[in-house]
This record gives sequence, structure tokens and C-alpha cells, in this order.
Amino acid sequence: MSIQESIQEFNKRLQGSNCQLIAVSKTHPVELIREAYAAGQRAFGENKVQEMMEKQPSLPEDVQWHMIGHLQTNKVKYIAPYVHLIQSVDSLKLLQEINKQALKYDRVIDVLLQFYIAEEETKYGLSLEEAQQLLRSEAFKELQNVRICGVMGVATNTESDEELQKEFRALRAIFDTLKQEFFAGAESFKEISMGMSSDYQLAIAEGSTMIRVGSAIFGHRNYNLPSNQ
Ligand SMILES: *Cc1c(COP(=O)(O)O)cnc(C)c1O
Repeated sequence: MSIQESIQEFNKRLQGSNCQLIAVSKTHPVELIREAYAAGQRAFGENKVQEMMEKQPSLPEDVQWHMIGHLQTNKVKYIAPYVHLIQSVDSLKLLQEINKQALKYDRVIDVLLQFYIAEEETKYGLSLEEAQQLLRSEAFKELQNVRICGVMGVATNTESDEELQKEFRALRAIFDTLKQEFFAGAESFKEISMGMSSDYQLAIAEGSTMIRVGSAIFGHRNYNLPSNQ
């Protein structure tokens, strides 16, 4: 299937649902992003600041850039002027830096809190307790230039539907708890970002509002290109 066909296929599948497609373009060149763009796709996900910085100027202004990878505080300044949604916020310190940079550009930056839901130690993210502590803190209440729009999680890389379902349900439960405790009146707190190429169907069934799909659209990633060496 071509990139255009896959985008159309996803659009058909998601039509009428509450779920949006984020096309994960990491490691792929801008030519392929342009193909997806031509098929109507606007939301793209990258996991490295450097790569997003390189691609952003050569693509149209209405591309919505989603940061989905671990973000270091000293790199926030490079994406602050244009980033659409930072999905990978996992500390108060990072949130404070995003707020500071957003203020500089006179904007409010939308973010998701990333949660640790997998059985793999390499994955990043907060626990529910850590998030509650963060949201209750006085330091958080001072932040006027960040808006928390929901939660994000990366499930275990497993074939087990049972395990995946358990993890997606856990993230959904975290969302519900936070909504009730901190965001009951906030319409903008509505996103549950979960599901990738191999498990998005399960994620949608468990209430995902954003699936982050890379290889099912762009094909396999080649991490051994000369530019990455
Ligand atoms: C790479 C990546 C994806 C997309 O993975 P695919 O398996 O290619 O769909 C989704 N989410 C995050 C956080 C990623 O880093």
C-alpha cells in the first residue's frame, strides 16, 4: 500500500470515531511526509528534537508537530515556537521549562502527561501518584502557559492481547481518575494517546483518542542511514 492509500484507509476507519491519527514520521525523510501531507494528513509525530528542527522549516506551516519522545529540558527552547502538542511530559521540572519557553513566545503550549504502563524498564513516564503530587503542588499552579490536555502511554512490545488490554485499561483508568480529581470542568482535558502500528485496534477499543502510527504508514524504519551514523 502507498502512503496515500494507508492514510486514506486510516481516515476511513477513524471516521465518526473520537480518535485521531498521528503519523509518526521519525527517521523518514521530508519527501515521505509530503506524500502523507498531500493525502490530507496534518498531525505528525517525531521523537527527537534535532530531527523535528531539521524537518519543520521545509514543510507547510499548518503541519501539527507532536513531540512523542523523551524530552530534555535544555532542548525545549528549540521546539517551543511551533510545537503543537508535547506528549511526553514526565516531570514538574520539564513542565516548568515548557512554561518558561511558552511565555517567551507569548503562547500556551498544550501537553500530555506520559505514564509508565509497560512491563519494560526502558520506558519513561510518571506513576499515578507522582502525577497527583505534581498536580497538587503550588509550583504547578503557578504555570500559566502550559495546558494539560490528557495522558499518553507506550505499551509493552508484546504479542499478548491480554497484556496490551490490561495496560491500555490502566491508562484509561489514570485518565478517569485525574479527570475527576483535577480536570472535572476542563473540556480541554480529553486526550488518551495510546496505540501504535501493532496494537492500535485494541487501543481504540479501550478508548484511545490519539493513535501514533509509524511503520503501518511509512514502512519499516532504517536506523542505519548514513545521516544517523
Ligand atoms: C516510534 C513510536 C511510535 C510509532 O511506532 P510504530 O510501531 O512504527 O507505529 C509511537 N509512539 C512512540 C512514542 C514512538 O516512539
